[in-house]
This record gives sequence, structure tokens and C-alpha cells, in this order.
Amino acid sequence: MGLIVQKYGGTSIANLERIRNVAERVAKTFDQGNDVVVILSAMAGVTDGLIDMATQIAESPDKRELDVLLATGEQTTAALLAMTLNAMNYPALSLLGHQAEVVTDDTFGNARILDIGARHIMDIIENRNIVVVAGFQGCDPNGNITTLGRGGSDTSAVAIASALKADICEIYTDVDGIYTADPNICEKARKINTISYDEMLNMASLGAKVLQIRSVGFAKKYNVPVHVRSSFNEEEGTMVVSEDSGMERLIVSAVTHDKDQARITLKKVPDQPGVAAKIFTPISESSIIVDMIIQNTREEGQTDLTFTVPKAAFSNALEIERNVAKEIGAEDVLGDINIAKVSVVGVGMKNHSGVASKMFNTLAKENINIMMISTSEIRISCVIEEKYTELAVRVLHTAFGLDKED
Ligand code: ASP
Ligand code: MG
Repeated sequence: MGLIVQKYGGTSIANLERIRNVAERVAKTFDQGNDVVVILSAMAGVTDGLIDMATQIAESPDKRELDVLLATGEQTTAALLAMTLNAMNYPALSLLGHQAEVVTDDTFGNARILDIGARHIMDIIENRNIVVVAGFQGCDPNGNITTLGRGGSDTSAVAIASALKADICEIYTDVDGIYTADPNICEKARKINTISYDEMLNMASLGAKVLQIRSVGFAKKYNVPVHVRSSFNEEEGTMVVSEDSGMERLIVSAVTHDKDQARITLKKVPDQPGVAAKIFTPISESSIIVDMIIQNTREEGQTDLTFTVPKAAFSNALEIERNVAKEIGAEDVLGDINIAKVSVVGVGMKNHSGVASKMFNTLAKENINIMMISTSEIRISCVIEEKYTELAVRVLHTAFGLDKED
């Protein structure tokens, strides 16, 4: 018996029948003697529909008003689930973000949680009531409604679980858990039983489809055990926990890929102090996120500098760098949009050598050229030609012993 936070995503509550299924799962957990706090997302597609309506009125609608509108998606599902539970004779009460004391900053559309006062929720639980909280929303210190960014109800759930010191935060979704690679391109991908927060953060491109990545940062910071699992079956999913909680020690836990990458190279850049700052300051001023950077030294005081940006920012970044190149006297600016990043991730890498060479050899055997490399303590990433992405993921998955047995 304990205090269990359960979060249900949009597909798990897409209609009244599914809300009824969720209510049954909540009731079962409650009947086992647990206290249950449920965090809900909006019904699948509803947030998109609301955004669509707002943008028919104005190209960029007032941000404060947009949050008032978007918060209604979760208000609807919270009330519907509480009603369903009540109709089944379970005591349940719905709370909006501000009633659950979710205090955020005032960055409408992408607010950060500053504090959660657990008092109100705790009072309700102590009277053996089920609490249903509208996810994705909070309230700034001036009482304005805010939302936490797309997929933000995951972060609501983890934050509330942490404030309540819940025993576990269960994230119910439409997939069985986190996989060793994207099962859509690697049919030998397996479900991972246990993964560390850091691995999950490094697997953003794989994991972000399942969990809002901000929620993982939050879980790590406050050490909230998270169980990602399906609401459509009873299978155990993936536990996301701190590294020392007795995990199986694989060297590589997953192979990820990211096709949303483009590459820009400045040729023959004068090798002088301040040049890199001139290259990257206008990029960051345009809020473009740079991922990898490499610099090759040439002779005669010149270097080539290459970096990657998201595909959507490519043409903007290219134009910026053409101007920078003129200013600093670089010879040329080249761009390439047909690239992808493949990575191997694993905490076991920390204590093992040879992971990088195995990765490079595996790619070489398939004649896949590596254009850029970056590493962190628990990840190695290679930029390759986009058309080899699927092949690279599959051969790396096999090489690192991740294939499921058939
Ligand atoms: N309903 C919001 C969205 O679609 C929040 C969430 O689903 O977590 O982004
Ligand atoms: Mg969602």
C-alpha cells in the first residue's frame, strides 16, 4: 500500500469508453488500499484542435489567452474521469492546476514549475478520496493560467509525484515502454526493463516520443521513480530510475537516431580569438539550437568549422553564416540537409573501452562514412548520410548485442 501517481496520455483517454477503462484501473489500484492521484492529459487531438482554432483568429494569438484556451483540454478530461469514478461509487474530486497549487513562472506556452504546494491534494487524500488533476497547466504568481509546453502533463505528473513524495509515478501511454531502438525501423528492438535517468536523457530522440524529456530531468533531480507502461494491457513497462538501483549492466542500452539534423560548414576561417563567438552569437540570437560542433585545423592559420542545427532552422542558419563569412573573411559556406545522427547510449560505457572503435568498425563494414563524431560519458554519436540511417541503426543494434532472440 502506498501513494501512487498515475498519468494517462491522450490516446488512453481518447473517448468515454477509454476513460471508463482508465477509471477501472484507477479503482483497482484504490481497492488495493493505495492512495491514488491521477494526472490527465487532454483527449488525443484536442490540444491540436484548440491551437488550430486560435490560429484561425490570429496568426500568433495572445499568449496569455492561448494558455487559457489550451488548459480547457485537460479541464474536460479531469472532470469526465472524476464523474466516471463517482458514477462507479468511488469518491473522486478533480482539481485544475491552480487548485492543485502548481505554481509556475509566467512564460506562457512553456512555463517552468516553481513550486507545488501539496497541502490541498494531501487533505483530500487523507479523507480517502481519489484526486484527479488536470495536467499540463499551472498558474503564475499573479494568478494567470499557464501551460507547460507540448507533452507537459508528463512533467505535471512527475512534479506532483515529487511534491507528494509518492512511491511511484506511473506514466500510462499507448506503447509498452522504452525500446532499445525505434521498433518501426529495427524489428529486433526489445523493450527495456530498467533504464537510468541519464540514459533516458541521452536518448531524447527515442524517449521524447514517449515522455516529455523535461519530465525526466525533473525525475532525476528529485529522484522520482517513473514507470512508463501501456494503459491497454497489464504488462510491466520500463522503469526509469537512478543508476545505482541495481540495474542490469549492459555496455550499450540503446541505439537512437535523429533525422532532424542539418550541417553547415564554414571553410577557411581565420584562426583567431573571437571568431567562434562571431559565428555562433547570431545563431543563438536567432534562438537556433546548435547540437554538434567540430573544428579542423588547416595550415596557414586557417580552420574549417562545421556544426549541426535542426532541419527547420537550416535555411535561416545558412543565411546568417553567409553574412558572417563575409565579415570574418571565411572562404565559403557549405550546407547539407541530408544527414542524420545515430547514437549508442549506455551507462555501462563509463567503465568500458572499445565502444567507440566497435561503433566505427561496424559502420565501416557497411561502407557508411562518418562525417562528425561527438561523445559524452555515456553516449557516442556519429553524423552520417541520412539514407543510411535505418541500416546503421540495425547493424549497431546487432553489434552491441541488443537484438531480441526469435
Ligand atoms: N495536451 C497537451 C499536449 O497535447 C499536454 C500533454 O498531452 O501532455 O501537448
Ligand atoms: Mg501527451
